[in-house]
Amino acid sequence: MLHIACPWCGLRAQSEFTYANDGTLIRPDLSNDSIDDHYNYVYARDPRRGIQDEMWRHSAGCGQFLKVRRDTLTHEIHATGAPQDDLDVPKDDRS
Ligand SMILES: [Zn+2]
Repeated sequence: MLHIACPWCGLRAQSEFTYANDGTLIRPDLSNDSIDDHYNYVYARDPRRGIQDEMWRHSAGCGQFLKVRRDTLTHEIHATGAPQDDLDVPKDDRS
């Protein structure tokens, strides 16, 4: 069974979490950025093979969003942290 370490609750079963989105996306400011920037934020995806940062939500726990560095090929989780954290393990770029 896959487990995810919630920064606030500790190690929990993956079934308590919900995938949210790409952890590298930055929400555009509609007052300054174009509608194309907003469209790309919502719809454009660049799925990768290998290690990537993702946002997950501990939906059946504390409800907090967290950043997860996960290998999409093996499902191994290398690090977790708060959304604003820089995860302290190196990224792999196999894509
Ligand atoms: Zn939690």
